[in-house]
Amino acid sequence: MIKFNKPSITEIEEQYVLDALHGSVLSGDGKYTDLVYGEFQKRFGIERMLLTTSGTTALEMAAILSDIGPGDEVIVPSFTFSSTVNAILLRGAYPVFCDIRKDTWNMDETLIEDLITPKTKAIFTVDYAGVPCEMDTINKIAAKAGLLVVEDAAQAVGSTYKGRYAGTLSELGCYSFHETKNYGMGEGGAIVINAEQYMDRAEIIREKGTNRRQVIRGMVDKYSWHDLGSSFLPSDLLAALLYAQMTRYEEIMEKRLLVWNTYMEELQSLEKDGLLGLPKVPEHVTHNGHMFNILLPSEEIRGEYSDKMREKGIQPYICYVPLHTAPKGLQLGYREGMLPVTEDYGSRLMRLPLHACMTREDALAVCEETKRILCSLV
Ligand SMILES: *Cc1c(COP(=O)(O)O)cnc(C)c1O
Repeated sequence: MIKFNKPSITEIEEQYVLDALHGSVLSGDGKYTDLVYGEFQKRFGIERMLLTTSGTTALEMAAILSDIGPGDEVIVPSFTFSSTVNAILLRGAYPVFCDIRKDTWNMDETLIEDLITPKTKAIFTVDYAGVPCEMDTINKIAAKAGLLVVEDAAQAVGSTYKGRYAGTLSELGCYSFHETKNYGMGEGGAIVINAEQYMDRAEIIREKGTNRRQVIRGMVDKYSWHDLGSSFLPSDLLAALLYAQMTRYEEIMEKRLLVWNTYMEELQSLEKDGLLGLPKVPEHVTHNGHMFNILLPSEEIRGEYSDKMREKGIQPYICYVPLHTAPKGLQLGYREGMLPVTEDYGSRLMRLPLHACMTREDALAVCEETKRILCSLV
């Protein structure tokens, strides 16, 4: 059985979680939360970040910090997880969906300027499959129009764009540490505050709208209610799990990349024969081996391929179902045909199993079955 995802848990995770359990803080912002910040500072040069209860709530914090509200528009891809767009809707703002590129399956930056109206306030980008978007171009467009850019780097921890880390490529970045992501804490995430002016407010929003963090730091004696907020901070027990994973950063990355690279090498011949399409990673990008997608010839073949793989005990998975044609997207006024590339690729892309417990032999077995099945179907 080759599962789609399996978290990699060792004695290191057990040891840190047990230590946290007997430590002095079970609620948020204990020793392990600080240790996690230290890892991100050391590895990616991140000076300001806040752990959250999920990638979803990191995006919700970013949306609050964006100051978007009713009557405002936010440009966002439809080819993403519901959380990216829910964060916008929860503020009462309207998501303006942007189509994707045919090569990276990321938001097509050449379409953005035509979507900007006097109501546009922000752009939420998504680093699909751990490959960062064309952030220099997007930031330039945003600066010209006075828009804030939020980078949903949920999948892209450790990826780089022109030598800079995903999550640090715009004013605010969001990570996910869900168990299906590269580095997990079960459920969790973080908001990266790259533009310093958002930090004080971010701390308050994360602590139920209070300035509790300033009291803890001894800056004020008593805390009080200052702003909108919620309980966005995770328990230090979960931070201990994430810290353990971050101490295994290179090992986990290498294991994922081994599987990714095996898929890439072994499936080349199928691409040459026109049986499938493979991911394209731009030269100025390094990716973290988060996801390996194949583009199949049709939705029908994708369905048959998936069924046959599952019969063999291998679990591939469909990627995103485009949001604009989902029931909520239709309710917002979107219709089929509006984003042709998203609709086409959304119906034909398929994710292969990829996690840090997989071996090269597992990856070879997936390739072998893929070859056999596609040669019989196409
Ligand atoms: C996983 C994911 C999220 C949500 O993260 P959670 O931690 O599961 O809430 C948001 N956006 C993208 C692009 C994701 O892949």
